[in-house]
Amino acid sequence: MARILFLYAPLFRTRHHQEFRLSRAVNMGTLPSRAQACVLILILAMNVALCTVNIPYGTDRAAAVIQIRTGIMATMNLIPLVLIAGYMRVADCLEFKAGWDAVRLAFMDSSFIRAGLIRAARIVTILYRNVSRDQTTADIESLPDDLLKIALNLPRPWIVTPGQHIYLYIPSISLWTSHPFSICWTDDFDSLAAERETPETTPTNQIYILMRRRTGFTDTLARRVSGSVNQTLSVHALVEGPYGGIHSLDSYGTVVLFAGGVGITHHLLYLRRLVRGQVEGTVAARRITLVWVVRSPDYLEWVEEWIGSIVSIGKGKERESSPTRALQILIYVTGSYNADGMERIRLGGSEEIRVSTGRPSFEKLLAWEMSNQVGAMGVLCCGNGRLMGDGGGFCK
Ligand SMILES: Cc1cc2nc3c(=O)[nH]c(=O)nc-3n(C[C@H](O)[C@H](O)[C@H](O)COP(=O)(O)OP(=O)(O)OC[C@H]3O[C@@H](n4cnc5c(N)ncnc54)[C@H](O)[C@@H]3O)c2cc1C
Repeated sequence: MARILFLYAPLFRTRHHQEFRLSRAVNMGTLPSRAQACVLILILAMNVALCTVNIPYGTDRAAAVIQIRTGIMATMNLIPLVLIAGYMRVADCLEFKAGWDAVRLAFMDSSFIRAGLIRAARIVTILYRNVSRDQTTADIESLPDDLLKIALNLPRPWIVTPGQHIYLYIPSISLWTSHPFSICWTDDFDSLAAERETPETTPTNQIYILMRRRTGFTDTLARRVSGSVNQTLSVHALVEGPYGGIHSLDSYGTVVLFAGGVGITHHLLYLRRLVRGQVEGTVAARRITLVWVVRSPDYLEWVEEWIGSIVSIGKGKERESSPTRALQILIYVTGSYNADGMERIRLGGSEEIRVSTGRPSFEKLLAWEMSNQVGAMGVLCCGNGRLMGDGGGFCK
């Protein structure tokens, strides 16, 4: 109860994840949770107290003392700031997705030696993943609606699990910065027809990410790609990771995945694993529902092939003993559309895919799933702040 009402509760209603934006480029962050707000208020109160208490007001020294105190406080506040920034990647690694948990880590051991060791470990990881006889390369292709599809060819593959993300460096675009992206697909062993090992037990040499164009690194890369021949580009890249991917949905009888726009990247490998597992009888899932909110039917072009291959898993191979297949893909188109686009989004009339217009009601969708629930229910949300806030709010 303390977690629901205090630790993870949004400050006001359900808007914890919604970003404050001054413009498309200027993001002022998100609203803190109630627990985070308390910590912030305490820090603020401490700063005010340390700068104003026991000052010899009314004497000549008052201004000088205030100056010294505020100077010291500004310097002291820099230490946690730098440590938190440095520890963010470690927090990621430990799956502390809510960045504020990094505060806890930073104060647990605020030694610079430790921070140095962590940075060294990251460099070793980057070298291990990328330096070999072959180099990591990125084949980049431009898709509709400001999206880039990137195939990363890895010299040192690993076993990709759903929910993993990597940090991507493209030195020819930006030498020192890296950005996180979900691994949304792996090519190998897509089909059950191939009676081979599954992707979950086999390292894969090629992973895919879908990158939404924003205003910094992603914008520079998108401009470079659109200026290239055929709107495709092959560049040298560096991959750091993988991080995350420690949450399994295998034991849930009912699984609901909510995605908004490019948030679909986080769910595709979960969906593939669950559908494959359902057919093979290796996961508990009996009801699997993906709810994807998109602005335009064109978005399906991003993932048409991959969703098509998930829908076809196990088709034509049903055995009498295999459990009833209960996959639903509900696509909600919130922007303008034309009839051709809507027909296309149905992937040639696949019975698992239903397309509606307008925004979904999370409350109604979850209530429906709960009334038909089989076993425990697992819900995952990935999208913009509003979707995360609404989805998370109704789950609570
Ligand atoms: C775990 C995780 C997985 C993600 N997966 C995807 C994905 O699959 N596809 C996708 O399109 N986007 C994904 N993102 C978001 C993506 O990382 C940002 O859109 C990208 O870093 C923006 O780069 P930019 O320089 O163009 O950003 P800007 O235009 O400068 O800023 C746009 C937004 O991105 C945020 N941002 C900028 N740099 C970083 C950074 N290094 N780390 C985190 N956030 C940053 C900013 O705070 C701002 O909200 C993911 C983010 C996280 C945390």
